[in-house]
Amino acid sequence: MSKAFKFDKERARKTVQQILPILKKTYPQARIALEFGNPLELLIATILSAQCTDARVNQVTATLFKKYRTAKDWADVGIHQIEQDIKSTGFYRNKAANIKAACQRIVEEFGGQVPADMDKLLTLPGVGRKTANCVLGDAFGQPAITCDTHVIRLSRRLGLSENKDPEKLEFDLQQIVPREEWTNFSHVMITHGRQVCKARKPLCDSCPVRSYCPAIEYPGLL
Ligand code: SF4
Repeated sequence: MSKAFKFDKERARKTVQQILPILKKTYPQARIALEFGNPLELLIATILSAQCTDARVNQVTATLFKKYRTAKDWADVGIHQIEQDIKSTGFYRNKAANIKAACQRIVEEFGGQVPADMDKLLTLPGVGRKTANCVLGDAFGQPAITCDTHVIRLSRRLGLSENKDPEKLEFDLQQIVPREEWTNFSHVMITHGRQVCKARKPLCDSCPVRSYCPAIEYPGLL
């Protein structure tokens, strides 16, 4: 039976200090895969990306963002039209309802501009912390940790937190990752998760942070 890993916050902090420079050097181009030109477009692309690949979302938004340019455009269009426009991204009824309602609120409460504020973003229908952090970090340049499936999985394997719950994990990571690195940390972790530390078969033999990864010593973390 493999021995059990015991979480230690100071060890987690040290692991971040060790792996972050390596991941940044390994993935210098790491950035969000969704294409957007402004905060509204990123907000909508992020809502569309639930249960859908970024490539498919980019395909759909390439024409969509030429058709609807402002929050008012989205707020004014009929829900059935939005459903048809976004159908290929899946779960289109929910997504269409959220996009329309969020844009109505942006028009009515925020003067047509996506708010650059976590609490205000969280008042928008369909927007949780993951989407809000994505918009704050990538569209507004504020430090933000996005806890997607890759960040959750890698944080467990690397012993950075005991929590799988995205909100608790986000707060744990905020305490051990330097604030100015929050957004970049998310990008390199997500890229590493996609390319090397894959869900089913992590490529540990060729992993650049293998020397600092507790999952090598404690396979129960995998
Ligand atoms: S050593 Fe393996 S489990 Fe650890 S980060 Fe690298 S790929 Fe992931």
